[in-house]
Amino acid sequence: MNTSTPFNRVVIAGGGTAGWMMAALMSKLLGKQLDIKLVESEEIGTVGVGEATIPALHTFHNLLGINEAEFMAATNATFKLGINFEGWKAPGQDYFHSFGATGNDHWSAGFQHFWLKGMAEGLSKTYTDYNPETVAAFANRFAHLPRNGLNYAYHLDASRYAKFLRAMSEGYGVQRIEGKIARVLKHETDAGAARAGDIAALQMEDGNRIDGDFFIDCTGFRSLLLGEALGVGYEDWSYWLPCDRAVAVQTASVREAWPYTRSIAHPFGWQWRIPLQHRVGNGLVYSSKELSDADAPEVLKRNVEGELLTTPRVIRFTPGQRDKVWERNCVAVGLASGFVEPLESTSIHLIQRSAIRLMQLFPAGGIQQSDMDEFNRQSKRELEHIRDFIVLHYHVNERTDSALWQHVREMDILPTLRHRIDLFRETARVFRPSDELFAEISWVQVMMGQGILPQRYHPVADQMNREELARFLGDIHLKVARIVGALPQHQAYVEQLCAPY
Ligand code: FAD
Repeated sequence: MNTSTPFNRVVIAGGGTAGWMMAALMSKLLGKQLDIKLVESEEIGTVGVGEATIPALHTFHNLLGINEAEFMAATNATFKLGINFEGWKAPGQDYFHSFGATGNDHWSAGFQHFWLKGMAEGLSKTYTDYNPETVAAFANRFAHLPRNGLNYAYHLDASRYAKFLRAMSEGYGVQRIEGKIARVLKHETDAGAARAGDIAALQMEDGNRIDGDFFIDCTGFRSLLLGEALGVGYEDWSYWLPCDRAVAVQTASVREAWPYTRSIAHPFGWQWRIPLQHRVGNGLVYSSKELSDADAPEVLKRNVEGELLTTPRVIRFTPGQRDKVWERNCVAVGLASGFVEPLESTSIHLIQRSAIRLMQLFPAGGIQQSDMDEFNRQSKRELEHIRDFIVLHYHVNERTDSALWQHVREMDILPTLRHRIDLFRETARVFRPSDELFAEISWVQVMMGQGILPQRYHPVADQMNREELARFLGDIHLKVARIVGALPQHQAYVEQLCAPY
């Protein structure tokens, strides 16, 4: 479908994290040329979760010119150095997926090869002792370092983040319209062959009609435009990711905020704990076959600490992806485009990627089929890769406490993931195609954390004799201890950073 009609009226439907991230980037880049409107309904509200991020968010903030201290003060944010996976391999066995590099890699072989040789010779400490982010996380310490700093992301208050981005977007000229969308109107056939079937306007409940040339569907799981109005199908991934519910609640902080997300496995799924400056975000992600929606809020309440600040709310979802995320004159961003559970905090990242991608492929003189195809191809590939990484956490488990864990251990996985696991198990090797989000080090941490200990290491590790290897490992360990020992406490550092704001 190619159209040569240039356009300038963009309508963003929905004002959750997706809507306002999209609005902020588009208005900053093209605000002088476009008429951008954002429609949202306070009565419907947002999904109200989505508070853990990954380091790539720095890129988005740099594009927007966001001041970190101002952002952190506005969103009550804390720093995040990684995720602690508790009981995922088996009850009582934890591991940390950190954002930083572990040890020193050689160009021919990652640090894990040298660590494995050290293990065989009784020289290695725990793998994560060679990773500054992990050691700092457990010591509850954080600071920005002048050179080779810690690699970090944020925990943030999602509703405050949307408000923060709203103020910025309105500053760049975005017009916000409050109200409920009643219907999505399409061009009739007499609009001309090229536009027939495209979205023409949003009909609001109050009678207002919002016309546009290009529409961005950020209406969350409802997907009112792409899914409902344009009828784009949805690929269901429940076979690999059987959790289909979440229940969330906020609690008052009863201890200093720790600089990492906690992900705690349960027989029915898992639980998150996300510490902000002023409160903690909590939730269960579960399979409705293992836990009922009636029982879930009670189970969650029993597994949190601190006074409840909200009423637990059950959220239903189907893991998967829209068959296309750009169809006709509509692109879906955020939950409207697809969803995999928040185990690796990837959804806000995917919003950011969609926003950047749309700016890169922004249709100037009209919509080109090749732009749409490229957008759809990149989006599909990106989410499939993340799905496989999340499936890895489930699949390689030794838990025996529910049918859920048994199913995910015994299920057929896709050949690409099977190959990665086999390659690592047999040779300790991992390779990252350039278009994938998670780097080799992420795969190594999760595979070893879930219990895959490689059978061999690269011969380059045998270039070192025992003494050399002991010195190599000892030096890294000492350096990590020295870096972390000089860091202040995380909470104190956050308070000091946010103080002027
Ligand atoms: P929503 O927040 O649902 O916003 C939809 C918007 O559309 C709202 O403004 C609503 O008012 C509007 N709308 C809908 N219908 C209408 C209508 N008829 N008329 C007018 N307006 C309408 N992501 C992470 O990166 N990290 C996490 O830790 C994380 N945790 C999560 C935990 C859970 C349980 C879930 C479900 C998701 C999580 N996510 C996480 C994902 C994250 O929450 C979302 O990606 C993010 O909030 C974006 O949501 P959204 O803006 O697409 O949808």
